[in-house]
Amino acid sequence: MNSILKYFNGLFTGIKSLLIGMSVTWKELWTKKVTQQYPENRATLVISDRFRCELTIPHDENNEHACTACGICQMNCPNGTINVLSAMIETEDGKKKKILDTYTWDLGMCTFCNLCVITCPSDAIKFNNQYENAVFTRSKMIQKLNHKGSKLREKKKEQPLKFPEGGLKDQVL
Ligand code: SF4
Ligand code: SF4
Repeated sequence: MNSILKYFNGLFTGIKSLLIGMSVTWKELWTKKVTQQYPENRATLVISDRFRCELTIPHDENNEHACTACGICQMNCPNGTINVLSAMIETEDGKKKKILDTYTWDLGMCTFCNLCVITCPSDAIKFNNQYENAVFTRSKMIQKLNHKGSKLREKKKEQPLKFPEGGLKDQVL
């Protein structure tokens, strides 16, 4: 008698579990699909602005960037992903000046923590949205970020403050 009860108990538990599973499947059949058909949807794919893909040094139309080769990003990177090589040059007025020679970043090492970007005092680096980074060899993950022949952008001299004629005391605040 006890074994018959056990049998039916197991049978009904199984049927109940099956119905719960089927109800989930049935519900999912009618919910809006979220699957992305990648790579067919490349043209319409929306990547969030905050998504960190590749570290870059933005260059302007004159092939100039803002990196002073100070090395702060390299020091702050927790896992040695960045390597900043600098060079010393002599300026037209005979002064010695440190400039960026080679800036390398290793995509395979980067944890995308963004520490390098937020600690750069010159706002010279940023992450872009280039999300397709698959390569066949590890060495291709090491990227040189400064372009060939690029140079440091001259800082705009601050405009001297203009005071109104007669001094500030004449101004109505
Ligand atoms: S990217 Fe910024 S922190 Fe890094 S070396 Fe260049 S100026 Fe310095
Ligand atoms: S994002 Fe983080 S791990 Fe990647 S290079 Fe910058 S500091 Fe290093």
